[in-house]
Amino acid sequence: MKKACPYCHTESLLYFQSKDYNRSISQETFDHYSCPQCGLIFIAPIPSDLGAYYPDIYHVIPETQEQLEAASEPERYKIEIVEQYIGKGRLLEIGPSYGGFTYLAKKAGFEVEAIEMNAQCCKFLNEVVGVKAINTNDPVDTLQNLEPYDVIALWHVIEHLPDPWSALDAIYTKLKPSGVLIISSVNPNAFQFRILGRYWLHLDAPRHVMLIPIKLMTEKLASLGATVEMITTADAGTIACNTGGWRFFFIHTCTQRYTNKTLLSILRPLLNLIGKAVSRLANLIEQSEGMGSAYTMVFRKAAEPIDSGHIGKVRSD
Ligand SMILES: [Zn+2]
Repeated sequence: MKKACPYCHTESLLYFQSKDYNRSISQETFDHYSCPQCGLIFIAPIPSDLGAYYPDIYHVIPETQEQLEAASEPERYKIEIVEQYIGKGRLLEIGPSYGGFTYLAKKAGFEVEAIEMNAQCCKFLNEVVGVKAINTNDPVDTLQNLEPYDVIALWHVIEHLPDPWSALDAIYTKLKPSGVLIISSVNPNAFQFRILGRYWLHLDAPRHVMLIPIKLMTEKLASLGATVEMITTADAGTIACNTGGWRFFFIHTCTQRYTNKTLLSILRPLLNLIGKAVSRLANLIEQSEGMGSAYTMVFRKAAEPIDSGHIGKVRSD
């Protein structure tokens, strides 16, 4: 079976088939293709009702300000990354969930806005976090009506979009000159993906419709005029992805094989320990740049072009 790559249109062979191993929303089989030209891993066909694969419990929304404070703490590394490149200004997050990062960005002094497809999350963002959140699953259309930003951030969002290319075009248009774009996503060149294949936690079919390699992301943003400021597969978020990947692999493999609740209650903590031990060993490899289960990239938009029309012009009158 062959499909045209949605990025470069090269004929791509079927890589493997998978199921929704993470959430078991359905028992359907999904076809994953690998583009021999650009390295994109993509699902085809993409389910037309993707929203149906996000259960109500997908977002665990805090109930109080204190819970929000605690839940945002693991996301502190994100604001530390942002502040290395820009200290203030208008910041947009696309796909913030309940807004752990938006909360920290607001506390750090940014003017924060958000675009989020989950209505409950938007309510929480508007009412508790105190950032303006627009509820939509069409960020491309929504962006057209927004004013430009100094920072736009997508933390583990781009892999969920059926058309990430149009989204990146629209996002780049809404960055101010010298503005910063931050994208983190799953890494199709990850060590863990090479070992676990279709059972890799971060394949997350069918919610992760496209796994975009670092090289391809760089190429796409360069075509828009952006320069790369930073690439890493060893940030705190990726290290958590690495550990989670091994732990869930052992637990999921077991829960799919056995249904006896007593047996599972004994096996779960044991498998959790095995996952952690394997993770410690694998981390020796996974913490090398390029090997981690995810990546974070920082791009900078070109500065405003200097109006050369006024330079060196000789008066003709
Ligand atoms: Zn391709």
